[in-house]
Amino acid sequence: MTAPVFRFAPSPNGELHLGHALSALTNQDMAARVGGRLLLRIEDIDVTRCTPEFEAAIRSDLAWLGIAFEEPVRRQSEHFALYEQALEQLKADELVYPAFMSRGDIRAAIIAHEASGQSWPRDPDGAPLYPGADKHLSARERRRRIDAGTPFAWRLDTAQALSRLQAPLSWREWTSEDMATTTEIAADPRQWGDVVIARREIPTSYHVSVVVDDALQGISHVVRGKDLYFATSLQRLLQQLLGLAQPSYFHHRLVLGPDGRKLSKSQRDTGLAALRQAGETPATVKAMLGF
Ligand code: GLU
Repeated sequence: MTAPVFRFAPSPNGELHLGHALSALTNQDMAARVGGRLLLRIEDIDVTRCTPEFEAAIRSDLAWLGIAFEEPVRRQSEHFALYEQALEQLKADELVYPAFMSRGDIRAAIIAHEASGQSWPRDPDGAPLYPGADKHLSARERRRRIDAGTPFAWRLDTAQALSRLQAPLSWREWTSEDMATTTEIAADPRQWGDVVIARREIPTSYHVSVVVDDALQGISHVVRGKDLYFATSLQRLLQQLLGLAQPSYFHHRLVLGPDGRKLSKSQRDTGLAALRQAGETPATVKAMLGF
């Protein structure tokens, strides 16, 4: 039997905070428990916000915490051509469409709808679903707009995608970090509506690159925060559409700030660098997180 494979996949668009430390340590812990391998993946497809400095800081914080990863480390910005192949497959299967509505167009459509007293559906992150007014444009009109340089993003036709499935979608979730039992969770990609699959400036998206890489790297266990729990529904759909293997999942608790909200990269006091500077040791940081 091949060894289980885990990964910690930060985006170098800011400094690591306690929430990231919990994620990396949980991965390390669970991998050790089952004799698994541990990979680091740098998710830097957003080349405007990700920097080599943040990546270097992430690697130094992880080394300071005493977490070792296998080399070489995969950097997503070096593999755009591969993610584009996934997009091409979805295009060939007629599961994506060029969506031309700008943010302003979307806002206007929602305001018009909500003026009638009905609320517009939102995704699990609170963003309004794409109205999809341009989903049924003719091939000719699409071509005309694209040739005219109209900005657009490739969006998944989620209803169409779901209609192609043979069986209901679900995923296997570990019920705790001791990996004794799993439970089968029904996936509900519909709650995300027609998500962006690729943009002109970034020819992929988080969801596409994450499923492509998880499969390519043979990830057997995806261990990450509960903030990505609902994203799993969509990622399971993409795995199915692209014919990719499905890992099992564990979504761990989130570290909350003093205000009871999820930590963000802009909250400097819980940043690992700030804690290091304040004289905390890896042992005290781990103790803060229950390790
Ligand atoms: N890159 C994502 C983040 O930093 C995590 C991706 C994942 O674990 O699936 O939020």
